Amino acid sequence: AIPLVVSIATERAARGGVLITDRLALETMRTVGAVLFDKTGTLTKGEPAVTDAASAPGFDLDGVIAIAAAVERDSEHPLARAIVAHAEAKALEIPAVTDFAAAPGLGVTAIVAGVPVHVGGPSLLAGRGADPLPQSVAWADAGATVLHVIVGHEVAGAIALADEVRPESKQAVEALHAIGVQVVMITGDAEPVARTVAAQLGIDRVFAGVRPEDKAAKVQELQAEGLSVAMVGDGVNDAPALAQADVGIAIGAGTDVAIASAGVILASSDPRSVLSVIELSRASYRKMK
Ligand code: ADP
Ligand code: MG
Repeated sequence: AIPLVVSIATERAARGGVLITDRLALETMRTVGAVLFDKTGTLTKGEPAVTDAASAPGFDLDGVIAIAAAVERDSEHPLARAIVAHAEAKALEIPAVTDFAAAPGLGVTAIVAGVPVHVGGPSLLAGRGADPLPQSVAWADAGATVLHVIVGHEVAGAIALADEVRPESKQAVEALHAIGVQVVMITGDAEPVARTVAAQLGIDRVFAGVRPEDKAAKVQELQAEGLSVAMVGDGVNDAPALAQADVGIAIGAGTDVAIASAGVILASSDPRSVLSVIELSRASYRKMK
């Protein structure tokens, strides 16, 4: 039987937009020592927009944006949607592609007019032995995500995208620190972007450049320090990490896969709700003894 105090607590949480799908998750929350937040879509709005673009010598800027949009049109990633929206806003003609493929955490590839085109972050660039455009260093230092466009074997251009931090995120971090809970950020994004966002939020520990398949291992790394870990994420990429964590918390606007791997769902997408769940857990199980 479910203890009455727990079912009352669960019901009250649901009214506040916090769905507890696994009762053990609620019980475990009171012992959580670290909360690991995915950056994109969780601490930030997950709605990036193009802020800058540049082409390499010999390449036309609008042409580079159009080709990037062509490859990204088949991707569901928020970065992809931002590039397509940017090309459409500029009324560029977006060419057709074939052989689209996505490499999670790296980027996307397709054939455009017989030539292979790649669009992706620093790991994709490094993997192809290509050098970033000089402009991209300043963009990344300012906190933008930088993607390069590689046409054939040449770097044709780069695109900078920025994503706004959720206004509630800083308060969530402060409140967790105040009750002695460590806050850690994890992201597939590059180190400079991650550092900038972490500094804005007062987060002192960051795992950056983490490939989707390695996120669960980072959860284990924290657990190996003796910490009970709650992981908060929104994407398909986050599902294994949510499952590995002592408590998996899905942000409600996230994907079905993430939601299926979570014991707690934050329908409100408000990171401050994590604190409410810890408080609820502490209150419910104190009363029970
Ligand atoms: P996060 O952990 O921030 O949610 P992801 O794992 O989704 O990030 O993506 C990590 C990185 O992989 C991005 O910052 C980008 O460099 C690259 N990437 C992923 N998907 C795409 C895409 N569709 N186009 C270009 N780059 C991509
Ligand atoms: Mg994400």
